[in-house]
Formats: sequence, C-alpha cells, structure tokens
Amino acid sequence: MGLIGKIIVSLMPIAPKFLVKRIAGRYVAGLNLESAIDLMKNMSEENTCFTIDVLGEEINDVDEARYFVDEYSRVLDSIVSNQLDANISLKPTALGLLIDKEVALSNIEEIIKKAALNDIFVRLDMEDHRVTQETIDVVLEMQKKGFQNIGTVLQGRLFRTKEDIAEVSRELGPLADFRICKGIYLESSDISYTKYQEIVNSTNDCISHMLEMGCYTAIASHDLPIINHSLEKLSDMGMSVDNDPRDNSADSRVGKGPGYEFQFLLGVRGNLRRKLASEGHLTRVYVPYGTKWYEYGVRRIRENPDIAWHVTKTIIMPWTNRR
Ligand code: FAD
Repeated sequence: MGLIGKIIVSLMPIAPKFLVKRIAGRYVAGLNLESAIDLMKNMSEENTCFTIDVLGEEINDVDEARYFVDEYSRVLDSIVSNQLDANISLKPTALGLLIDKEVALSNIEEIIKKAALNDIFVRLDMEDHRVTQETIDVVLEMQKKGFQNIGTVLQGRLFRTKEDIAEVSRELGPLADFRICKGIYLESSDISYTKYQEIVNSTNDCISHMLEMGCYTAIASHDLPIINHSLEKLSDMGMSVDNDPRDNSADSRVGKGPGYEFQFLLGVRGNLRRKLASEGHLTRVYVPYGTKWYEYGVRRIRENPDIAWHVTKTIIMPWTNRR
C-alpha cells in the first residue's frame, strides 16, 4: 500500500488539474460557503451533524489571517440563519500561530467570542508537531478567559498524547473536549509511533483514557479496529446509546464530558457513519470548503501517501467507500 501511494504521489505533478478537481469533489463541499450549506441541507435525511472547515493553513503574512476571521464570521452567521446542527473547525496556523502568537490569539478569540454568543462550539484542528503545545495552550488560555466553547484535537500517533490528555483534563475537568484521531502528519520516530498497529493501539489507549478521565471524546477515525474498540469501551463504561450517563447527571455538571461522538470526513465511509447513526450514536461529518482545495489535497497526499491509495481504491472499487 505504501509503495502504491508513493507511485501515485510521484505521478501527481503530471495529473491534469480537472482530474484532481473531480477526485477532490468527493471530499470538499465546494468553492464557497453557499455550496457547503447546500450540501449540509441535502444531507438532512442522514441524521448527522457537521463541523465546517474553511480550507487553508499556514499563512506567510499575518494580514492573510483576516480572510479567515471574516469567512468564519460568515460561517457562524450561516449556521444560525440556516438553523444547522453544526460547529466549526479551524487551523491555528491559518490564523497566524507560526508568525505572531499574540495576533493569532486575538484572531482566534474574535471567532470564539462570536461563536459563544451563538452557542456554537469551536474546534482547533491539530497540525504538525511544531504547534502541538501552542495549540493546547490556546485552548487553556481561552478557557481561562471564560470561553467554554473550545476544544482541540489530539493525535494517537504521538508519544506525548497520554500526558496531554491527563494535563488538559486535570485543568479543565468535564470541560475537556477532544477530537482524537491517528494524526495525518507523518512525524519522526523519536516523537511518534510509525507502524500501523502501534498507531492503532496507541489511539485506542488514548480513547480509553479520555473516556475514563470523563472528557468529551470525539472519535475521528474510519478504521474498524478503532471504531470497534470505542464501541466496546463505551459499552464497558455504561455509555452505550441506551445508557448515556449524561442523561442522569446533566444538571450537576459543567461541561459536556463524559460523552462521545463519532466523526467522519466528508466522502469517506458514509455507509459506516449511517450505520452508527441508525444505532443511535451521535455522528458528525467534517465539511471542508474553499478555493484552496487543490493545495489542500495535494499537500495532504504528499504528507501521507496512504491517502493516495485510499482515494484510488475509492475510484476503482467504489463499493468499499460510499459517500
Ligand atoms: P485509515 O486506516 O487511514 O482508514 C481506514 C479506512 O477508511 C481506509 O481503509 C479507507 O477505506 C477509508 N479511508 C480513510 N481515509 C480515506 C480517504 N481520504 N479517502 C478514501 N477512503 C479513506 N488529523 C490530524 O492530524 N489533525 C486533525 O485535526 C484531524 N482532524 C480530523 C477530523 C476528522 C473528522 C477525521 C475523520 C480525521 C481527522 N484527521 C486529523 C485525520 C486522521 O488523523 C487520519 O489521518 C485519517 O482519519 C485516516 O485515519 P483512519 O483512522 O481513518 O484510518
């Protein structure tokens, strides 16, 4: 699989842009907010909710961040006016985190403040190891300022993640709200697991740890060994759909934890998502949109050639992955 992925990556520079666009069309809602709204409305029968992402990351000049602040403001307005069951995901480096931390914090705060006024949750996507600590720090800082509508993502492949779970949940208690995924960035072996089974085992340990610590746990994986582990752990903890501890103790708690949901990328394993939803689990679809779809797709595939294989498999064996 790794080899096929690498071959596809090496062919990408000669692939016609229209072909890449056709492929990306499955995973990206469209070029603008209106297409993302239409897509979510069209999915209203699927019993799922959404997280909206404006495509783009790591800017070169802090002024570029203004585009994202303004666009996320439009997204928040649209969620409210269209009464969508949606929250937002944003990339801290697109708001300037690698250029000027103070400016990034103020940009992120502007978005969170508006989201809080509308009771909308904001998730900071997790990027590569250069910003792991800084991203966690932003969450803690915003919570200190009184914003409870923020959480981040932790990556099961990183050695540090179990300590991060412990530290954040010590600080925030049931306000700790994580998305847990394997991590798309292929990090080096001195800070991360690099083999498939090790990554799955570590991600599963992190999921168990989060649930045991009473955090809100958004499980973001399409991989059956991870989904099955999560279902078993939820059942062991009495958190299956018919017995959710949130039902009994909601009044006495501050924050959403303990609790859980399953998250899927748009265009990936829709049949599995619909099955989980039909069993009563809360599911959420990650809906990216924007003009930067080409750069986004190419960069993701270069970073992790396995994705090239998944995409190819979807084209030549469409029954393995229904949108
Ligand atoms: P895999 O083993 O990669 O996939 C399992 C199966 O799912 C594959 O066999 C294939 O059939 C299918 N599949 C998976 N991906 C694709 C695809 N692109 N196209 C077609 N089929 C596919 N990573 C971060 O580092 N930071 C984040 O903030 C982040 N946010 C995420 C948010 C969501 C909602 C999700 C679902 C993932 C996110 N990720 C993020 C990516 C994640 O870390 C993994 O890289 C990605 O989900 C692939 O791992 P997997 O667990 O789905 O397993």
